[in-house]
Amino acid sequence: MKFICDVMLGKLGRWLRMMGHDTEIASDELTDRDILNIAEEEGRLVLTRDSDLKKMNSPVEVILLDSRDFEDQLKRVFTELDLDTNFPEGSRCSHCNSELKEVGESEWVCKGCGQEYWKGSHWDRIKEIEKRLENLN
Ligand SMILES: [Zn+2]
Repeated sequence: MKFICDVMLGKLGRWLRMMGHDTEIASDELTDRDILNIAEEEGRLVLTRDSDLKKMNSPVEVILLDSRDFEDQLKRVFTELDLDTNFPEGSRCSHCNSELKEVGESEWVCKGCGQEYWKGSHWDRIKEIEKRLENLN
């Protein structure tokens, strides 16, 4: 499943990428209609905090998230769509959404922007949140 987040959900979008889900994060120059058009063209589900966007007429599936807290947002999306996490094997670059290439033991480099990832301090935090997500169902 592929996603597009509105600009208010950038943090959620970066977490979805880390957990292996192809997620575009809309820039704030895009209108609600632009976001819906991209979603339709690219087969993405829209995640938004904007109730006006949710009300717009479109064939695209839109999930309206009420919470401001990214972990609550993640839980809602994972529960509603029955998603799995795929960290770190399937992780995508949190900056640009490209796939990562494994270049060593617990070392990856982004195929798009060259960002390097390794088993650092963020690792335990991701694992902790992942565990809470897995225990939801
Ligand atoms: Zn990248």
